[in-house]
Amino acid sequence: MDIIHLLPDSVANQIAAGEVIQRPASCLKELVENSLDAGATNIQVIVRDAGRTSLQVIDNGSGMSETDVRMAFERHATSKIASAQDLFALRTMGFRGEALASICAVAQVEVQTRRAEDEVGTLLTIAGSHIESQEPCQCPVGTNIKVKNLFFNVPVRRKFLKTDQTELRNLLNEFYHIVLVYPKVQFTFVSNDEILMELPIGTEKQRIEAVFGKGNKTYTSQFVDVRTDTEIISIHGFVGKPETANKNAQQYFFVNGRYMRHPYFHKAIMTAYAGMLPGELNPSYYIYFDVNPELIDVNIHPTKTEIKFQDEQMIFQILLAAVRESLGKFNITPSLDFNREGEIEMPVPQGKESHQTAGFTTPHVVFDPNYNPFSRNTKQNVKGWEQIYNPADNNSNIRQAVEHEDSVLFDYSLAEIIPYQYQGKYLILPSRLGLMIVNQHRAHAHVLYNQYIAQITTEKGVSQQLLFPEVLDLTPDEMVLLSTIAEDLRFVGFDLEQFSQNAYSISGIPATLENKNCLTALHNMLHFIRETGSNAKDEWRKQIALSLAQDTAIPYGKKLTDEEAQKLLQQLFELSNYRRTINGKTIVTILSDDEIQRRFT
Ligand code: ADP
Ligand code: MG
Repeated sequence: MDIIHLLPDSVANQIAAGEVIQRPASCLKELVENSLDAGATNIQVIVRDAGRTSLQVIDNGSGMSETDVRMAFERHATSKIASAQDLFALRTMGFRGEALASICAVAQVEVQTRRAEDEVGTLLTIAGSHIESQEPCQCPVGTNIKVKNLFFNVPVRRKFLKTDQTELRNLLNEFYHIVLVYPKVQFTFVSNDEILMELPIGTEKQRIEAVFGKGNKTYTSQFVDVRTDTEIISIHGFVGKPETANKNAQQYFFVNGRYMRHPYFHKAIMTAYAGMLPGELNPSYYIYFDVNPELIDVNIHPTKTEIKFQDEQMIFQILLAAVRESLGKFNITPSLDFNREGEIEMPVPQGKESHQTAGFTTPHVVFDPNYNPFSRNTKQNVKGWEQIYNPADNNSNIRQAVEHEDSVLFDYSLAEIIPYQYQGKYLILPSRLGLMIVNQHRAHAHVLYNQYIAQITTEKGVSQQLLFPEVLDLTPDEMVLLSTIAEDLRFVGFDLEQFSQNAYSISGIPATLENKNCLTALHNMLHFIRETGSNAKDEWRKQIALSLAQDTAIPYGKKLTDEEAQKLLQQLFELSNYRRTINGKTIVTILSDDEIQRRFT
């Protein structure tokens, strides 16, 4: 029996139109979803040149009849819905009947397909929407679609494709979205004849392990289970223990077997973690929602990753409570890491009592009673200073002057000033404009950032050899990303080589990394680059320098010797823009003499 029919125009128009195929990854999504809708239990994805030359999906699903396979490539041809009403009871991934029509309009397509009840299969070739041939063929039950030379007839589109590395990363991300929610289907991903992923049938947990834990059981031991069943929704999944939060968090929501983005529900999860996470680190989570399809509308976005729910506030509360309960049940207490920017705010003691109760000891200060940091009669060689500093001027003038006359900040040479280190976090020193407070970690990170950028642009890096090379294990998309940036990493001092299909060996590191964990630093960096979506060389170079600078800068709480503090300040003030980090955060602030005076009235 043939099962495909055309949707009436009225229905077709109710379905949000949109660009279905933007890149190889959208093609992968549509084809694999079709295979799933056809009940396949084994799906292979085979790409060449990141899908640019060809993208093939082979499944063992229902197959199509000789007539259906031709119909399948017509616009609005679908076997999945017949009326608009059906939209509200969707259990299949596809429904618009647009994907194959869109694909065959912009590529050369070959399909072999056979149903179990047919003796022979059929082989159809189409290019630019024209059927070129159809003939019987011998083939296994299921469907084998090969999409060649995507956008061959739309040169502009083809030109807009990114590098193979970027497109391959997009393909893998799309692949993850699907395989994580279909653990009962076996998947294989092959790129240029190399098997990048082979995922056996298993549980959701095993699937997550196979994809992100490189098959290692310890990966999912970092998670706790979440489960709640209510009348409106069932939620289950896994959330990372707070201490395993990192910059490289994997965060996934799925609803009724479909990946979705949902910033609002994301907020619910983050709220559950409130107070447990160190600063900028994120928990990983994999959350699966099951909901009556009538309560969601998947038809609001052409790529269908944003999904609207009825009663989102209620679901927010349910999700928040479920995650909180799981985190509480496992008696998870926060663990903090002091090493990275912004992770924690150092507590500021309030009065004498809290000094003692908090166990602070008052620092012992040595001072020279004859030393007057504010005297202005030494080193009057500073050009133009008198015009800038005019006590009658208002503050904003002074501030402007500072921006433009950075070189005239100090009465003394910096080598003569001994900064006072406050709370292991700030360096305090006198300047011509008032009491200067320097954030030591940001200052150092900024100095290092500029140093790394210089190394990358001059293509000169110094590397410190490791006694024992380290092995950096990566997921396939990380492998692709790393190979893109490997050269730039060498400029900042990493000595690295591909070691196996999913690992690099690190035999040298930037001297500034010293005994810090170079694997963590590299993971952080990959995550940083991925987060910012840096595709252009300039952008990812910035991210490399920035991430490494954050990881190698002196941490908060570190006591500096006078020499170290002075050296840091000297390096900082040599930079033309030392007042703010490249992300616009304040490095240096000045409490003006006026402001100080005003407090003594
Ligand atoms: P939709 O998935 O929205 O129905 P498509 O253009 O993706 O639209 O596919 C059109 C039709 O072709 C589907 O409804 C289905 O009947 C058939 N089809 C597509 N791919 C497969 C496949 N791998 N196995 C069996 N049937 C398929
Ligand atoms: Mg489809």
